Amino acid sequence: MSSVETILVDGVWRAAASGAQREVLDPADARTLAVVAEGGAEDTDAAVAAARRAFDHGAWPRTPVAERAELLRHVAELLQRDREAIALTESRDTGKTLEEGRIDVDDVTNAFRYFADLVVSEGAGRVVDAGSDEVHSVVVHEPVGVCALITPWNYPLLQASWKIAPALAAGNTFVIKPSEVTPLSTVHLLRLLQEAGLPAGAANLVTGAGDPVGARLSEHPDVDLVSFTGGLTSGVKVAQAAAPTVKKVALELGGKNPNVVFADACATDEDFDTAVDQALNAAFIHSGQVCSAGSRLIVEEPVRERFVAELARRAEKIRLGRGTEKGVECGPLVSAQQLDKTEAYVASALSEGAVLRSGGHQPEPSDIRPATGYFYAPTVLDRCHRRMKVVREETFGPILTVETFRTEDEAVELANDTEYGLAGAVWTKDAGRARRVAGRLRHGTVWINDFHPYLPQAEWGGFGKSGTGRELGPAGLAEYREAKHVYQNLAPKPVRWFAG
Ligand code: NAD
Repeated sequence: MSSVETILVDGVWRAAASGAQREVLDPADARTLAVVAEGGAEDTDAAVAAARRAFDHGAWPRTPVAERAELLRHVAELLQRDREAIALTESRDTGKTLEEGRIDVDDVTNAFRYFADLVVSEGAGRVVDAGSDEVHSVVVHEPVGVCALITPWNYPLLQASWKIAPALAAGNTFVIKPSEVTPLSTVHLLRLLQEAGLPAGAANLVTGAGDPVGARLSEHPDVDLVSFTGGLTSGVKVAQAAAPTVKKVALELGGKNPNVVFADACATDEDFDTAVDQALNAAFIHSGQVCSAGSRLIVEEPVRERFVAELARRAEKIRLGRGTEKGVECGPLVSAQQLDKTEAYVASALSEGAVLRSGGHQPEPSDIRPATGYFYAPTVLDRCHRRMKVVREETFGPILTVETFRTEDEAVELANDTEYGLAGAVWTKDAGRARRVAGRLRHGTVWINDFHPYLPQAEWGGFGKSGTGRELGPAGLAEYREAKHVYQNLAPKPVRWFAG
């Protein structure tokens, strides 16, 4: 992409009003990948005004549900048509492997199809029994209005789609602000929405920094809802900025996700291999830059040494490199800032007594691992405890910490000892224990003998400081709707409460 016209307002692509630009870097070599518009408050206000007009006077909120669903299905087809191009963009922009990019496009396609099906499967409203033949009472769902959608850099296309698909299905208009670090796939997606025939102004995009663009969206009086995915610190700022205008706020924040492994899950060599393999995947896919990364291994004491030794052996063998290169299993971290953060967490863990079992350094450069890229070797830190900074905070890097337990109660207590509550897993052969532990975990998603899968039809979101609200599933659509109770008196009479 060479054009800096990456701001979409009222159906027209434009550069920033100020003329400002930003270089988007390839994290594999820190070279410029694209130059985009660096939007500011003026661009944001223009985008919100367009979305407001499109909501108050435009066609989209008044388009029949079946037609809205048809458009979403058309977008799904276009996503599949452009699958390779989008996957490549996502891989180069985020550093993730090309195969992960393809999986993201397929998942996003499914999300568009899911919300299309969901919205048409619902009736025109829910008739409620008012206790009288002379009353007709119905609850209908209407769009919230103008939605501000703010997304992070780790799954740019996916996070955008989890918001855009339900927002449009429900009949809203929106302004999206992708991460300034990885805006490219969102620009592509917005072009597809246009191509699918979405009316001008229904979908607007401002590329630019969290402050001013995201901050302005959050406080804007003409925005009715802000749906934010990102870190805890930014999420709190969004909620604070949104409070004076009492807009709806949905927050999808970070996680510190426990992966609890009982010894019986390692009873046979095959079981052991599965549990280790999945623990590796849980922690290191996309170099750990996953909100639901299983970055906290909590393993039963008798199997700890064997488990950690095998984990470390395999972590050392993970093939790092440019995400677009064949055979590469893990790409770089997304930015110099993430690399610095990872190094600082490892240093702090070692200073607090953790034992390094693998990684703990930047790998040697090679052709596919240029020296200028933001690479860090997958790192396993043994002998950790819950008071360590590296165990308490979301590192968002390729760091796996290991803690141990001796009883089921202790395992649950450790797994719940986090301010977050996004996701967690329990590994055991004992079905009763699996259900008991899953029931006691205070996390929005719990996997039993698995890690990472999610379904568009099942809600995604967090307990505690992992956020408010849910994406995906029926609740993911409900976020973008207002319930309205219409009570019709079929035989009105005076009330006579007041005698005079
Ligand atoms: P971030 O909070 O730095 O940025 C997220 C978005 O918010 C970006 O678009 C950024 O520009 C914007 N932003 C920053 N400051 C803002 C402000 N004051 N007002 C409004 N917007 C602002 O997060 P990140 O580093 O891009 O992403 C990583 C974080 O996202 C991690 O904490 C991760 O766990 C979280 N995440 C959560 C989920 C989930 O489903 N819960 C999914 C993906 C990522």
